[in-house]
Amino acid sequence: MKVDYLVVGQGIGGTILTEHLINAGFKVRVIDDPSFSNSSKVAGGLYNPITGRKMVKTWNCDSLFDYLIPFYRRLEEKLDSDFLYDIPIYRPFYSHEEYNEWMGKSAEPAYNKYIDKIYGQSTFGKHLNDEYGGIMLKDSGYLDTLKMVNSYREYLLKLDLIYEEPFDYANLEVRDGEIRYGEIQSAKIVFAEGRLQSDNSWFNWLPQKPVKGELIWIKSEEQIEYIYNRGVFLIPIKNGLCKVGATYHHENLDETTTEKAQSELITRLGRLIHFDYQIVDQKAGVRPATIDRKPFVGSHPKQKNVIIFNGLGAKGVSLAPYYANQLMSHLEKNSELDAEVNIERFFSLF
Ligand SMILES: Cc1cc2nc3c(=O)[nH]c(=O)nc-3n(C[C@H](O)[C@H](O)[C@H](O)COP(=O)(O)OP(=O)(O)OC[C@H]3O[C@@H](n4cnc5c(N)ncnc54)[C@H](O)[C@@H]3O)c2cc1C
Repeated sequence: MKVDYLVVGQGIGGTILTEHLINAGFKVRVIDDPSFSNSSKVAGGLYNPITGRKMVKTWNCDSLFDYLIPFYRRLEEKLDSDFLYDIPIYRPFYSHEEYNEWMGKSAEPAYNKYIDKIYGQSTFGKHLNDEYGGIMLKDSGYLDTLKMVNSYREYLLKLDLIYEEPFDYANLEVRDGEIRYGEIQSAKIVFAEGRLQSDNSWFNWLPQKPVKGELIWIKSEEQIEYIYNRGVFLIPIKNGLCKVGATYHHENLDETTTEKAQSELITRLGRLIHFDYQIVDQKAGVRPATIDRKPFVGSHPKQKNVIIFNGLGAKGVSLAPYYANQLMSHLEKNSELDAEVNIERFFSLF
């Protein structure tokens, strides 16, 4: 069987790249063993233009955010499913000075488009500790990553475009201009295996820095309308169910939940909210992060048709659409990749 692309991995990265390729008319086959890793299945799914304790615009924010919402909306339509939830994020201030700072910043065009409103006094005191007020962000929300990945898998299965099996690296034959993998003959292969990139000798020299993360699901009587975020995020799902996360740990990189992470989340949540809740679930995963916190995108130094799309770290939801599109244009139209994501930055390690 002859195809244009063979994609290995169908997490957020592989899904979104495959969708770009199929949409552009390429013949694609995907190989994914869903039991291997689960980052995309446990992710909080948050997309947030202004992040961190210091509240700065997320890297490359304008390009990423102009692209991502229309992309996910089109995908929802195509799959006849709902997985993108456009919800403002409310982030309480730490001090009155922070309120003053944001009053100033809100006039700057760079920030203005992401700010819905700034509050100088407690506004959501029923739920939160927001004695200094807070900032309501827009162009934010969350993607139900599990639902998106599963809906896309159903679509691929229906069209017979996916093999649900482990990719066997020993069976890959690479020649100039051609890939062979069993019965598949492909012009190019793209690896999007998330943290399991470490098992792939074509790309295991790239400096990964995986980060384990855990989330808890809580249930309460409260009707919460917004995402609350300070030190921890709380995403309202439905009927009082909320997702709370996430932890960041560089050791014990497995996918098992821990009491330590649960108590860390409870402590951080206690600083943000003051209503009663019960913990109903907990999940863990490993983010495929990189040493410089930027994705790995581009061709292998020796074989142009062996390609990587990985390193989405803690921001797969916002990074994947824009960079999948950029990678496809690079491969098909020879357009430039952003230097910050191009794996050429690490060629000295090869
Ligand atoms: C607790 C937690 C919270 C997070 N919260 C957020 C958030 O709020 N917002 C956000 O944007 N991101 C978040 N993330 C990060 C997000 O999950 C990742 O950026 C994203 O899921 C990475 O997707 P991926 O496709 O690169 O990798 P993965 O999801 O790991 O997918 C890789 C796929 O490849 C398959 N695979 C690998 N090797 C093989 C092989 N040899 N053969 C066959 N199949 C193979 C795996 O089974 C898997 O299906 C969070 C992550 C965690 C763990």
